[in-house]
Amino acid sequence: MTQTRKTYIIANWKMNFTPGEASLYLHRLANRLPVSRNPQIIIAPSTVSLQSLSLQINRRQMKLAAQNIYWRDAGAFTGETAASQIRSFIDYTLVGHSERRYLFNESDRDIREKVAAALRNGITPILCIGETAEERKHGETKAAIYDQLIGGLHDVSKEDIHKVIIAYEPVWAISSNKNARPAQPVDIADAATLIRSHIAKLYGKDAAEAISVLYGGSVNADTARSFLSLSDIDGLLIGGASLIADSFCAIVEIARELRNE
Ligand code: PEP
Repeated sequence: MTQTRKTYIIANWKMNFTPGEASLYLHRLANRLPVSRNPQIIIAPSTVSLQSLSLQINRRQMKLAAQNIYWRDAGAFTGETAASQIRSFIDYTLVGHSERRYLFNESDRDIREKVAAALRNGITPILCIGETAEERKHGETKAAIYDQLIGGLHDVSKEDIHKVIIAYEPVWAISSNKNARPAQPVDIADAATLIRSHIAKLYGKDAAEAISVLYGGSVNADTARSFLSLSDIDGLLIGGASLIADSFCAIVEIARELRNE
């Protein structure tokens, strides 16, 4: 792992926990996790829990992320939450998670607007990209990754690219996919190299070296080490295993150990 880049361990709680349950679980995690900015621990609860958790969280220990934002700052958009409404609760937001792309039909246009809205509101977007099983089977992985990068980063300038985090999450490896199968570290290393080479083409070599690239897809305490040991991978986005305190804390511990902290 390149020492100048930070490590991120992100818990995507998805649509789990009431605000009360989220608060209790955060309390349990806070008692077990180190106060440290490296690895940077980020919790992404449901929108409904963001405000209360923002009052509870020790920001030197963990940060909060939204799982989704809407890209307009205000207006008649029933059911949506603007980045401008939650910006005081969060430092990060996921954008373009595959469940948003495929269950809620988010387009590249939506995603690029959300990336821009996050940046406009001082929030770091974590742009999720990754090919489907079909695309992989047909040898379209490279094109899918490129298209999603171009689509999501369309409005991001050279000056702002360092404010974006990329999470590579092949859809076929995410546990919510009923045919999910584990990714091999070599697949993830190849994808990370590809992502950096695309970023180099779009923004130059320095940006490609500096940008944080995370991996997500059914990672657990047994597999975290193999992904965190990859030199081009700067952390993990964790779904299922982040809902179990023992698993999540064990993954953070592995990240700390690999960082010699
Ligand atoms: C995710 O959905 O972001 C994810 C990585 O989920 P899981 O770890 O459960 O595959």
